[in-house]
Amino acid sequence: MAGDGGYQEAYLADVIRFKMKRDNKRFWAGDNISEYVTEEMKHKLIDEATEAFELVLDRLLIDRETDPNSKGTARRLAKMYFNEIMSGRYETAPEATAFPNEPDNVTNECYDGMLVVRSELKSMCSHHHQPVSGVAYIGILAADKLIGLSKYTRIAQWCAQRGTLQEELCMDIAREIMKATGSADVGVYIQATHGCCENRGIRAHSSLTQTTVLKGLFKTDTAVKKEFMDNIKLQQDFAPR
Ligand SMILES: [Zn+2]
Repeated sequence: MAGDGGYQEAYLADVIRFKMKRDNKRFWAGDNISEYVTEEMKHKLIDEATEAFELVLDRLLIDRETDPNSKGTARRLAKMYFNEIMSGRYETAPEATAFPNEPDNVTNECYDGMLVVRSELKSMCSHHHQPVSGVAYIGILAADKLIGLSKYTRIAQWCAQRGTLQEELCMDIAREIMKATGSADVGVYIQATHGCCENRGIRAHSSLTQTTVLKGLFKTDTAVKKEFMDNIKLQQDFAPR
C-alpha cells in the first residue's frame, strides 16, 4: 500500500492499467477491456478491490469489524462489480452464431421484414454508480445473416452491465447488433429510469428518459422509421413497462 514505507508487490490492477495506457486502449467505465483481463486475473482483481472497498468503509467510519452486516461488505461489493453490475467490461462479447437467411423452398424468398426485440435492461450510471433500469427495443431489417432471438438480449445486457450513460448505451447496443448481424439497418430505442435522479439529486420519482439511435434505413427511410416506432407502440400496449 502506498505510504507504508515498505516494499510492496505491484497491484495487478496497476500492471493492467499500465499496459492499457501503453497500448492507447481506452478504459472508461463503459468500455470493454476483456482482452486485458483473464478469468484467472479476475480473482486477484477482486482481492485488490476488496482491500480498496475496506478502506472506503473505514473512511466512511463504518465499523466493519463488529457490525455483522458490514463484515463481508467490501468483498461483496468487489464481487458484485466484477461479476454482476460491471461484468460487461470484463467478459468477451456473447457468442452469437449467425445463420444464413435462407430462402423458403416454396416461394424462394428470404425473410426481408423488420424484427423488433424487447430486452429488459439493468445498467448503472457512470457518474454516480446508481442503478439504471428499463427496456430496450432493438429493431433490425433482416440482412444475409440471422442470429438467435435471445442473442439480441444477451448483447444488450452485455453492453448494459457497465458504467454507462443512456445515450452511450444506446449507441453501443446499435453498434454491437450491427456487428453481430451484418445489418446496416438497425434502430435502438431505450426507455429507462435512473437511480441518480430518484435516489439523490432532484429525487424525482418515475423520471423516465428515452433515447433513440437510428442507423441506415431506420434513419433515412421515414416508412421504416414509422414501422419501428409503431412496432414499439404495439409491444408497449401488449407488455406495459
Ligand atoms: Zn448518475
